[in-house]
Amino acid sequence: MGSGIYVHAFRDGAIVPMDAAAVREVLAPYAPYDVPDGEPVEWVRAADGSDADVYLHHGVSFDRPGPGVLDIVAELARRTGAAIVLPTDPTVIVTSAADVRHLPQELRARAVVVPPAALTGQAIEQVVRPRPEPRRRPMLPPFPYHPDPVATGSVTAADEPCVCCGHDQGWIYTGPVHGEDVPDGRLCPYCVAYGTAAKRLGVFFNDVEAGRMPDEAARQICERTPGFATWQDWGWPAHCGDGAVFLGTAGARELRPYPDALDELRGQCAEWGWAAGPTEEFLAALDQDGQPTAYLFRCRICGTHLARADFT
Ligand SMILES: [Zn+2]
Ligand SMILES: [Zn+2]
Repeated sequence: MGSGIYVHAFRDGAIVPMDAAAVREVLAPYAPYDVPDGEPVEWVRAADGSDADVYLHHGVSFDRPGPGVLDIVAELARRTGAAIVLPTDPTVIVTSAADVRHLPQELRARAVVVPPAALTGQAIEQVVRPRPEPRRRPMLPPFPYHPDPVATGSVTAADEPCVCCGHDQGWIYTGPVHGEDVPDGRLCPYCVAYGTAAKRLGVFFNDVEAGRMPDEAARQICERTPGFATWQDWGWPAHCGDGAVFLGTAGARELRPYPDALDELRGQCAEWGWAAGPTEEFLAALDQDGQPTAYLFRCRICGTHLARADFT
């Protein structure tokens, strides 16, 4: 805190002297020296080691109080009912709405009421230095084949410029990027969605199951749809002649409501020549956040759920 903080008692618009005995009672335990009888405390040190010079005049001033000293300031205001005069706007903290009318006219509009129970050093700091509002981030572009890339972890909030458009869009793409010349830096989801990154940088994000969906769908999935990390390479699945919608990773528990998806995984295991026992063990061990994991999709046409898994 840059400069001084004052604790003042006000009555009918004027500063009135504070009760010196009460002030001394609050401050003396924090004095790192022996305070002579009847003398005011001139120096306090807080539990966190921060300290401040203290002057008692009509009120009490704390010179450059550290964070811990603010707790002492708060205690003094709670105990005496006096106002805390800050070097910032809002300028005064009072402990009850009724106190506002005792302030000088010019301070009334610059007062904030913090009830005694809430009046701590941290509360003072919050008034002096309000935390910045969380950044408002724009809406993500639509991804028809990967509708919630934030939930799946492929897009995350970030204050970071995009390597393609150069703008800090508030979001960044965290999934895989493929191509001959993958840029050293991350892309915003808008450059993914609108094909800018594919066109400008020659990158792509997914492979598709060959020949099972129209070219337009394949291009959309490869060049304009966020990908996601997998251990093995397999193409984006298709159903009913269209690419499926990626819903996220899934473990045994998440797959339970989708017997169609489980049957599909059983079919894939059978193709690898797995017997029923190991297949069921494998399915039971699937873990949404671990290994092995499954990837859940849904057909855009018929709604059937599909799954893929890493067979590591
Ligand atoms: Zn961009
Ligand atoms: Zn279908």
